[in-house]
Amino acid sequence: MAHYPDVAIFGGGIIGLTCAYYLAHEGVAVAVYDRGALGQEASWAGAGIVPPGNPARAASPLDQLRGLGAEQFPRLSAELRELTGLDNGYRRCGAIEFLSAAEAEVPNLWAAEGIAFERLSVTAARQLEPLGEIPGEPYLLPDCAQVRNPWHLRALIAACQRRGVKLYPHTTIRDDWFTRPNRIAARYVIAAGAWTNDIVGRLWQLPDLHPVRGQIALLRGASCSRIVMVGKRYLVPRGDGLTLVGSTEEPEAGFVKETTSDAIAALVRFAQQLVPVLQQATLERAWAGLRPASGDGVPYIGPVPGWPAVVVATGHFRAGVQLSIGTAQVVSDMLLERPPRIAVEAFALTRAPQPPRLSAFRS
Ligand SMILES: Cc1cc2nc3c(=O)[nH]c(=O)nc-3n(C[C@H](O)[C@H](O)[C@H](O)COP(=O)(O)OP(=O)(O)OC[C@H]3O[C@@H](n4cnc5c(N)ncnc54)[C@H](O)[C@@H]3O)c2cc1C
Repeated sequence: MAHYPDVAIFGGGIIGLTCAYYLAHEGVAVAVYDRGALGQEASWAGAGIVPPGNPARAASPLDQLRGLGAEQFPRLSAELRELTGLDNGYRRCGAIEFLSAAEAEVPNLWAAEGIAFERLSVTAARQLEPLGEIPGEPYLLPDCAQVRNPWHLRALIAACQRRGVKLYPHTTIRDDWFTRPNRIAARYVIAAGAWTNDIVGRLWQLPDLHPVRGQIALLRGASCSRIVMVGKRYLVPRGDGLTLVGSTEEPEAGFVKETTSDAIAALVRFAQQLVPVLQQATLERAWAGLRPASGDGVPYIGPVPGWPAVVVATGHFRAGVQLSIGTAQVVSDMLLERPPRIAVEAFALTRAPQPPRLSAFRS
């Protein structure tokens, strides 16, 4: 009789760890394997923006996944704190988003989904935050939230341990672990972020999975109190004198996870134009992470063709934190053979690339 866990998860970023946590909660014996330290790649590097959402009214399966995260992050955060005593930094700080003329339809998407928002005059926006440049139409999103990635990952790891998940960092995944006589689990989840093809590629290639580097600058000094978003760039005030300024989108960097002085200088300039009090702030640190991106920006969540016991969960691109809870629930449905709560064909590995569509959020 083999003594292996019900589910082996390869990759211990936010996706793998959240899957582990939810599966363990359902009584499944889970082990997580990572070639490095747990939670130190894209999931550590991200800004932790959790936009609002409403799974009941969301227009697409991807929006539903975001809606599940928006709805359940408060509960998960409370649960993690109760289990581990660790605060993940989740807070509904609100956001001001500036929309360009090309994004004029976005408020209609928010309205259709039942997301609370208010169009602000420039004067009202300036009363709320110490804004300088006004780079578009300002909107208030009171339910936009944030989580502190390193804190959330630390809490998730501790909670997984409390729930009996076996954690194996710094472990090399072997090719023969999927098949008898050396298989190590009844089922598998492959959640190795931008590197997922290194593992799943032995069974099936995801031809368009690729890394997209994102750089972030961390400033110390007076700042705004809400998240401020302009297209793909944003400020995320952490509430303790620190402000994240993100981020670049650099597919051309491939797997090179380095910062560049030009990109960091441009981010700092952007921040200081938007919130001039940041001219007095100091640059505390800068870093980069490699987002896992699919060709159409939609994650891959589903079984590997020909390998029904192997489920892939990757390609969450700019949204892996906000999509982590929905992904873990969908993966749990698949592995426990329950009817899926979302139309998961949209995430299938074999889907035709989905046409570009205007999304409710850019970060
Ligand atoms: C600058 C930046 C800002 C972002 N901001 C946000 C945001 O505000 N909100 C949001 O929702 N998302 C954000 N994201 C996106 C989010 O961080 C990612 O989508 C998410 O972290 C992806 O998680 P993951 O677990 O798939 O990948 P990762 O965190 O990269 O984890 C993959 C894991 O797999 C392991 N691994 C790799 N190869 C192997 C192997 N061969 N064997 C075993 N293990 C392996 C790695 O060591 C790693 O631990 C941001 C990302 C970046 C870079």
